[in-house]
This record gives sequence, structure tokens and C-alpha cells, in this order.
Amino acid sequence: MTSSLLSDANRRLERALKYVHISEDASERLKFPKASLKVSIPVRMDDGSLRVFEGYRVRYDDTRGPTKGGIRFHPNVTMDEVQSLAFWMTFKCAAVNLPFGGAKGGITLNPKALSKFELERLSRGYVDAIADFIGPDIDIPAPDVYTNPMIMGWMMDQYSIIRRQLSPAVITGKPIGMGGSQGRNTATGVGAFQVLVAMMRKFDKAPAATTVAVQGFGNAGSVVARLLFDAGYQVVAVSDSHGGVYCDRGLDIPSLQQFKASTRNLQAVYCEGTVCNLVDGHETITNDELLTLNVDVLIPAALENQITAANAPQIQAKYIFEVANGPITSAGDRILEDKGVYVFPDILVNAGGVTVSYFEWVQNRSGLYWSEAEVGDRLQTKMVAEAEKIWSVSHNLAIPMRTAAYVHALERLEEAHSARGTRDYYVS
Ligand code: GLU
Repeated sequence: MTSSLLSDANRRLERALKYVHISEDASERLKFPKASLKVSIPVRMDDGSLRVFEGYRVRYDDTRGPTKGGIRFHPNVTMDEVQSLAFWMTFKCAAVNLPFGGAKGGITLNPKALSKFELERLSRGYVDAIADFIGPDIDIPAPDVYTNPMIMGWMMDQYSIIRRQLSPAVITGKPIGMGGSQGRNTATGVGAFQVLVAMMRKFDKAPAATTVAVQGFGNAGSVVARLLFDAGYQVVAVSDSHGGVYCDRGLDIPSLQQFKASTRNLQAVYCEGTVCNLVDGHETITNDELLTLNVDVLIPAALENQITAANAPQIQAKYIFEVANGPITSAGDRILEDKGVYVFPDILVNAGGVTVSYFEWVQNRSGLYWSEAEVGDRLQTKMVAEAEKIWSVSHNLAIPMRTAAYVHALERLEEAHSARGTRDYYVS
């Protein structure tokens, strides 16, 4: 029997519970999502037909604040996936100390098959369907896989129409012209880079002597690859959903970014005429091959469940930084741990996105807008400080970084749960 994503996610919680004193009340409540909404979204298609899409929004836990989390447009979106992603958001927000709980949303579709008009009608229809479930003090969505600032803008606009008042703080990741924050679009990649640099210092390995493979060349993966390239790391492999490219002397990431932007596809980058020259001596590889390359650092920045019990034994990287949400299953984790691989977990590494979302929400509510430098400095301070705290927990308790991140987050969640009164308070 294949276990659900949510029960796999809960296994991480159970493991962390062995290392931290949490009231039974908190641990019991954290096993279940607070509220799960499933909606049908009828959309008038360009050819005149009507199509109904299935959408979800899950609010997992709001003990620390309004719930927060992105909306994904992907063919594999299911209630189980959305609940797991909402679970991760709960721990992510606590791990980096944002005053938010966790949520997630999604619509099951292939967004590449829809026209821009259809996408706009779908985005507005989704907000019509979930409007009573979200709000600036209730639940604040944001972008995730295959959603972008434009879509966030349509959604904010639709919510404002429903409420009959401009409500920029209902959603983050908006275009700058609609109340978005400087630096939000690159924040996940920037935050991951900041954590990576701080953590790799501990291993005394110079950037020029560090080889890196990045799976996923989207909003997060391409930004991390570019920052690592600029900082002198040897980025030897990158891939997107069509496949990857490998060059043992290191890839020219700025050129790859430029061509990916113009062709929308890495395959074209290395297969069409002169462009191949940009990565002279390159090899094309599959996503599976990329994961098992002999590199120092592996960065899964695509989707969940990429490293499992099936391929974990073949992983050669010594350090893994999870930029995607949930790229390693708990069974994969155990194998990597036995091999002595350092895994830096998603709830820390990719928390830069939601951190700048928090900054955006604060700016929308205060009406005072920050410069890109101010956003970058605040992000750096938070990411490095929380990474260092989790590193200390990991060392003090001799546990892997993932378990340490959960322990760190659980301490904050427990504080919020116990402040409301737990069994110990009422019966002792
Ligand atoms: N989708 C992003 C994540 O998984 C960002 C969420 C947000 O900004 O609220 O962390």
C-alpha cells in the first residue's frame, strides 16, 4: 500500500516529538488539518464550452497567526498533496518565526494548456469559490508551482471586488504595481542561497572547489543557480521538466537563464544550433541522472518525492539543500542519513519566499514600502539567524538538520498552544 503524502509528512513530526517536550494537546492537534475546502470552478473556455476545474484550499494550523501558503496550478494537485503542503507551511512559518500558521491551495490542471484569458477567468473563479475561507487576518495565499505575480494580481483584484474595498494584504507575491514587495519574486532562491553559503562555511569548502547540480530551473532553481554561479561555485548540471544538461567544467548559467527565458525550455537551450556552443562539452542528462551525479551539493528545486528509497542508495552528493517542498520521502531520508549525507530541509532552505511574503503583508498593512536593499538585508538576517539556531539544535541533540528544524519549530508551536491552556494547566 502506498502511504499518503500527509502520513509521510507526519512521520517527520513523530520523529521530532522524541526530542522535545510538547503537550499532548499540541501534538494531537498538529496531526490534523484545521479545515479543508474542496471547490468546483466553472470556467467559460475560449471556444465557448464550459469546463469545471477542481480546486482546494487547506488551513492547517492557525495557532501562531493567520494561515499562509501558496496556490499551485498543476495536473497532480490532490487534496492529500495540498494538506501535506499546508502541514509543511505550518512548520516552515514557525521554523523562521513568522507570525503565521500554515495553509496551501491548488487547482488540478495543466496551466500550459490554457490561454491567458482562460487562466484569468479560472483565477478569478477560484477566488469567488474560496473568498469566505481567506482574508488578510484569516488566510493569505501566495504563488507556488506554476502560479506567478500576474495571477496573484487577478486574485487580489477579484477579492477586492467581492469585498467592495481594496484588500492588497489578502494575497502576497503580487506585481509591484499592485502592492507587491521588492524582492519577492526572487526571494525563495535568494533565501536558499543565503542559507547554503552560511552552512557550507562550516565545512570549510571553497566555492570554486564545490560542484553543484540543480534539479528544476524555475523561479527558485534558476535564481539559486545564478547566485551560486556569481559567487564562484561550479554549477555543473541543471534540469527542467524536459531534461537536463551537464558539463564537468561548469555551466554558463547566465546564458542558460537568458535562453530559457526566450525559449521557455532548456531542451532548446542545448539542442538548437549555436546555443549548444554556449555549453561546449556538455552532455544531455535526464532528471534521474542529475540526482545521482557525483557532485558535492545537490539542490532539488522542482517537485516533491524526487528522492525515494529507490534512488537514495545511488545519491553521491554529500550535501543536499531542499529548495522544493518535500523532495525527499521519509524512507529516502533514512537511507541518506545512514550514508552520512547532510540534508538541509525545505522548511528552512526555501523559507525565503514566505519570509518576503510576510514583509509584503506588513508593507500592505502599514502602507510604508521598503527598498529592495532593505528587504534583502532583513531576509539575510532572518535566514542566517534561524539556520544557525537549527544548526545548534542539530549539534546539541546530535540529530539531523531536518529533525532539528522540526524541533525548533515545535518549540514555537508549543508555546502558542500552551498559552491557550493544555491538559497540564487544567488538571494539575
Ligand atoms: N509557495 C511558497 C512556499 O511554499 C511561498 C508561500 C508564501 O509566500 O506564502 O513556501
